[in-house]
Amino acid sequence: MTVTEPVRTEQKTLRAQAREFAGDVLAHVRDVTDPLPTPTERYRATRPFYRQMVEAGFLRRLVPQALGGDGTGASTTAVLAEELVAGDPSVALHLFSTGLGLTPLLRAGSAAQHRQFLAPFLATTGTPLASLALSEPGGTANLDQPDPGTGLEVGLRTTARRDGGDWVIDGEKHWVSHATGWDGDGPDLMTVVCRAGADPDPRRSTAVLLVPGPIGGLTVTEILEPLGHRAHLLPRFSLADVRVPSSHLLGEVGDGLGIVATSFGGALIGACSAGVMRAAFDVALQFARTDRRGGLVPVVEHQGVGFQLADVKTRIEAVRSLTRAACAAVDSGSPGAEELSVHAKIFGSEAAVQTLVELMRVVGVDSYGHHLPLAGLLQDALAYPLFSGGNTGFRRRRLHALLADPSYDPWSTVED
Ligand SMILES: Cc1cc2nc3c(=O)[nH]c(=O)nc-3n(C[C@H](O)[C@H](O)[C@H](O)COP(=O)(O)OP(=O)(O)OC[C@H]3O[C@@H](n4cnc5c(N)ncnc54)[C@H](O)[C@@H]3O)c2cc1C
Repeated sequence: MTVTEPVRTEQKTLRAQAREFAGDVLAHVRDVTDPLPTPTERYRATRPFYRQMVEAGFLRRLVPQALGGDGTGASTTAVLAEELVAGDPSVALHLFSTGLGLTPLLRAGSAAQHRQFLAPFLATTGTPLASLALSEPGGTANLDQPDPGTGLEVGLRTTARRDGGDWVIDGEKHWVSHATGWDGDGPDLMTVVCRAGADPDPRRSTAVLLVPGPIGGLTVTEILEPLGHRAHLLPRFSLADVRVPSSHLLGEVGDGLGIVATSFGGALIGACSAGVMRAAFDVALQFARTDRRGGLVPVVEHQGVGFQLADVKTRIEAVRSLTRAACAAVDSGSPGAEELSVHAKIFGSEAAVQTLVELMRVVGVDSYGHHLPLAGLLQDALAYPLFSGGNTGFRRRRLHALLADPSYDPWSTVED
């Protein structure tokens, strides 16, 4: 897609605004959250930071203009993600998890559902949260696996049954961002992926239901202690007899797999990966240019260190370029969009982990503590290959399926 001048100007303005916000606001998150002993306390302490993101209009950026927001596509969202993640990966993830929670509604909701559920997320006040509840204890990599009738529990195990004019949801979920809400009774909106009806084929039975908070039948059974994203809250919870009217179904029963497949945007993880690498690169470059470690010259003058930094910078630019290409393909509706998005997710996330390890080697032993941000950023980056569709169980399978499809055109990714 040719980037028009107004779009380029909009992205430049947004980048400057988000970078300033990251420096002025997000750079202080860890000072507030790191001393707090529990994930719940850390999460709740981020609420004022989240409020400021909403007030800055960043949440409205995740809702397309056609639906009343300020969103202008994947390329602009990627600019926002890269800048905010470079400021603080946890609180940036708060914002993009709410975006993820809204995506099924934005993509598959009816006009009436948009009117009913979107209003709090279009305001520039408050701290509205949405969450997409897919992941389940026992795994979701095989959610498209048909039930073979062996009695083994396969695929998705959360169910929705009809009762009069309602759907009634029962099941267990885990690792779902914002599922607790700020106070433990759920987010403002939870989109729950489940199996509706007895059809053993998930292509006909997977459904997505809109559940507004507070959610009466939600019980938090455990707060997980993640390695990174220490101020983000990831619970395990059950949904028991959660009742919503039939009008809360997105699309039709059977649309669920398609909705899930298009909701976890791969290119966005490429942008987050670029953000985390940038934050770490700044720290390592500053160290290498200013610290002599008791020698005669700054560390960067040693060829081995200089080469490592050069290689890392090449990789960061490669991830940024690939992400830009993927986003441009998404925005223009190019046939190569899905493949490029998967590449951006896999390559970007694995590059981020590799880069963090290499930058820690540049800085040496002082990187192995939390007085510098590198160890924390590595902990954050380790999530990227695992979440939003794990690189092995979900993303590589998707790429494999594309390659094996007889109608696959490997160069549909080449833009004119
Ligand atoms: C910070 C963070 C935030 C998250 N936010 C959310 C959220 O908001 N909503 C949500 O629903 N989830 C969320 N999650 C959870 C996460 O997105 C998913 O649970 C995860 O992507 C599931 O992928 P998985 O591949 O590990 O699946 P699993 O089913 O747990 O599979 C585990 C492993 O088994 C192997 N495997 C299984 N089946 C196959 C197969 N058929 N082929 C090849 N390999 C296979 C693979 O090695 C795979 O990695 C979050 C997680 C984190 C860390």
